[in-house]
Amino acid sequence: MTVSDHSTPPPGTVYLVGAGPGDPGLLTRHGAGALSRADVVVYDRLADDSMLALAPADAELVYVGKQAAVHAVPQPRINELLSEHAAQGKCVVRLKGGDPFVFGRGGEEATHLRDRGIPFVVVPGVSSAVAAPAYAGIPVTDRRHASSFAVITGHEDPTRPASRIDWHTVAHGADTLVFLMGLANLAGICERLVEEGRDASTPAAVIERGTTPGQRVVTGTLSDLAERVRTAGLHPPSLIVVGDVVRLRDQLMWHDAQPLAGRRILVPRVRRRPSEIVRLLKAAGAETTEVPVLRSETLDPPADLLEQLGGAEWLVFASPGSVDGLLDQLGRVGRDVRALGAARLATIGPAGAAHLRRCGLGVDYSPETAAGFAGDFPAPEAHVLLIGEDGGDPHVVRDLEQRGARCTELAVTRLVVDARAPRPPLEQFDGIALASSNTVRRLVETYPGGPLDRQVVVSIGPMTTATAASLGVRVDVEAPEASPASVAKSFTQRLGLSQAT
Ligand code: SAH
Repeated sequence: MTVSDHSTPPPGTVYLVGAGPGDPGLLTRHGAGALSRADVVVYDRLADDSMLALAPADAELVYVGKQAAVHAVPQPRINELLSEHAAQGKCVVRLKGGDPFVFGRGGEEATHLRDRGIPFVVVPGVSSAVAAPAYAGIPVTDRRHASSFAVITGHEDPTRPASRIDWHTVAHGADTLVFLMGLANLAGICERLVEEGRDASTPAAVIERGTTPGQRVVTGTLSDLAERVRTAGLHPPSLIVVGDVVRLRDQLMWHDAQPLAGRRILVPRVRRRPSEIVRLLKAAGAETTEVPVLRSETLDPPADLLEQLGGAEWLVFASPGSVDGLLDQLGRVGRDVRALGAARLATIGPAGAAHLRRCGLGVDYSPETAAGFAGDFPAPEAHVLLIGEDGGDPHVVRDLEQRGARCTELAVTRLVVDARAPRPPLEQFDGIALASSNTVRRLVETYPGGPLDRQVVVSIGPMTTATAASLGVRVDVEAPEASPASVAKSFTQRLGLSQAT
């Protein structure tokens, strides 16, 4: 399979990238590629901002969305931000929810750039208009029920006489109608469609936070949907779907029918990498939050830093952060990149390679995946200095040594708790997963009061349970098999849909 290559555009290109509707897995490969090369990311409020982590650690992140009561950055200012950064030769990613050209004002931004001669690339995204219904089990077309669909702004109050929307045409223009930005006008929209001749018994639904683990769906008809949605208390981002296809949800609902759908589980962590428990909980439909937020800090350089660098034939960087960490350490001893001398350079994974190149350094070896690193390493008997995080992944060293290399490790960074990062309130969680004794300590550091009565606390095994007991943390369930799968299963048994009240 070949993927067209946008990876070598002229400097100062702006990528208008669709982030998709919420599920980070719905970001496209082009979108992920653009993010991985970004110098600046200008982004709106996203249903899931984990994809910002795809940008290099030193990329500038500029938030221009709305924040509770605070107004969004005005569009002309956003346009200027894009052109100003691009004019400095930077790679700019403008990341927008869904598709950039579906009610995203992406067209206006592209026009602004075109007028200034700034090159741009549009990376379409999966629009919430089709994806949220899909995750709710509602196909927007279906041979049996609907041969057309329309996507309409619900932003305009249909009860106002000066509406710019031709409501008669909207009501009859397509079998399925999808309204974005319409939650506040829901009652008016339903009434107006009935006035214009759609049957009051037409099925309709509102989907809140579609495609995310917190997705909620309320169904009804044009005559009672607004009341049902009011009772359920749905919030933006939500969209409205109107048409016979809504009926199919009864048979086709899947995403919010997963065993842990709608359940929020707190996972205290000690490492940057997401844990296996998180992966399994997500696969069962749960929304997971890992705390605390961790960040990298450069370690003090060892006294023999220059000797270590000078003695190695190959320098292998574990991540983009390791490149920064080493340059930082060199700076602290009054040296710079020239101290790397004649050593050959390798990275474990492409992100590190991209970062080395940005620093003006060539890359001699960088496999696509970390798993294949040692197997294809071109100098199996060389003296290798592995530059990475304190307590980082030991596998590469072990694998290289098995192939005959002499490996030394140089820790340039370590992970520390980011005390400034906001801490999600404990009340919002239904469960807490304790994967090791260290994670129990992290829980107590982050939430000194410990779990509340309403949370189901699952421990992975006897040692973790004992640590919890010694720190005064209540454990409700100890996983019978001391494995991540057993932890996830324990949650399904205690919090799963069939147990819901
Ligand atoms: N460009 C976006 C739409 C931007 S307008 C896209 O293609 O999806 C913003 C509106 O999109 C919101 O008011 C809401 O109606 C809808 N929306 C965006 N994400 C959503 C989601 N995850 N679930 C439901 N509606 C969503």
